[in-house]
Amino acid sequence: MTVRVRIGPSPTGEPHVGTAYIALFNLAFARQQGGQFVLRLEDTDQERSRAEWERQILEGLGWLGLTWDEGPDVGGPYGPYRQSERLDIYRAHVDQLLATGHAYRCFATKEELETLRAEQKAAGRSLGYDRRSRDLSETTIQAELAAGKPYVVRMKAPLEGKVLVEDRLRGPVEFDAAQVDDQILLKSDGYPTYHLANVVDDHLMEISHVIRAEEWISSTPKHVLLYQAFGWKPPIFIHMPLLRNADKSKISKRKNPVSLLDYRQRGFHPRAVVNFLAQLGFTMPDQRELFDFDEFVLALDWDRVILGGPTFDLDKFSWLNGKWFRERMSSEELTDFLRDELFSRDRIAALVPMMKERIDVGEQFIPGTDYFFRGEVELPIELLRPKRHGLAELAKVLETALEAFEHHTPFEAGSLEALGRQVAEEAGWKAGELFMPLRVALTGRKASPPLFNVMVVLGRALMRRRLRSAIDLAKATAKQEQRAAAKAKKKG
Ligand code: GLU
Repeated sequence: MTVRVRIGPSPTGEPHVGTAYIALFNLAFARQQGGQFVLRLEDTDQERSRAEWERQILEGLGWLGLTWDEGPDVGGPYGPYRQSERLDIYRAHVDQLLATGHAYRCFATKEELETLRAEQKAAGRSLGYDRRSRDLSETTIQAELAAGKPYVVRMKAPLEGKVLVEDRLRGPVEFDAAQVDDQILLKSDGYPTYHLANVVDDHLMEISHVIRAEEWISSTPKHVLLYQAFGWKPPIFIHMPLLRNADKSKISKRKNPVSLLDYRQRGFHPRAVVNFLAQLGFTMPDQRELFDFDEFVLALDWDRVILGGPTFDLDKFSWLNGKWFRERMSSEELTDFLRDELFSRDRIAALVPMMKERIDVGEQFIPGTDYFFRGEVELPIELLRPKRHGLAELAKVLETALEAFEHHTPFEAGSLEALGRQVAEEAGWKAGELFMPLRVALTGRKASPPLFNVMVVLGRALMRRRLRSAIDLAKATAKQEQRAAAKAKKKG
């Protein structure tokens, strides 16, 4: 069998470490088996997909050296590799399922479905679609179509029997077909859902092994039913263990940086990142912890993957990175790495326009810009404290601001500032009342070059890290002060 594997990232946010983790196992398996690795962009969520995220995902994976043989940028014989450019293909496949009775149209309006949900809730019944349109008469369907009513297409899942999912790491897993809902396949905007597009593409792109995160395992019965409905042979499924925070919850940005940008900005070396990801849920036959991609390709064996949910341990990650600096890189290589990542010409060039007005001699440049080069800044709470508002309130407003900035594209000063003003206004604050603590959080100072220019040059990752620290500090201090005040009141 020719091994063909793929990743299907959705361009709805910054490149995620989980995506890199899955990409790594796919690529290593493809290399080991002499197969191909495909990158397919699953951009069927029109509202959340952005060109900037797409670019960053490709760039982030490229930074790690996880390169693909076929993809939207390099092309290939199975393209297009962007799902939004394959709408005709999905439409044709949906028509096929409608014709063979494996799918049906549902014309229910949003209001009707909301009423259904409310009724179900009131009756304490399980929530879900009630299959109301499963057996509409042909006359009704034609009348609704003629009236131009919008509709979705749903899968006609069997009402009894079992669905067998074969997972290479878990063996066969049986599901009750009745538990599989009549999944939407085609949305009313003409876009496919993940399930339909994913199955159709994996088949047409001749994917032999689907290596993906464990969180998709519950979708697999739907996929297997779709393969059956089309009369296709499903690929081999390999669901990799879920990465976890130290407290065993699913990895999340509240507890761990999850964007590749964060690690790059912190000065992790791409080869150490690959090494760290490769030992999550996988051990080398000789237990060695320091190894590179080529060694991993030779050793990769699905029988050595442990399903326990490996912990994403930042201390271990830093330790391993240090080992790479010391044991696997010459001083020459480390010099180049530091120059390129920290002191690149682009980086300095971005700072110069801001600093030109502020320095007379070169030696003032470093002290004037040090906060661009460090991870955390010192954050005196008295600088952060707003005059007219409490710290708890500040924490809340900063959280809202962070959430807004983080998801805003493009990351550009003018529109970030407008967003900042909007957040302030919605909170009932004057813009300046928010901008001062923002500046302090980002720079550790009360005076700096224009705030939003600073934010752009810091970049998303540092912006996020510093605002998080400020929010945590404001919250903790507010709590302390509240407790102290309560104590004083009791005494007094
Ligand atoms: N679009 C899915 C994702 O964002 C792909 C999941 C899969 O590999 O099937 O991860």
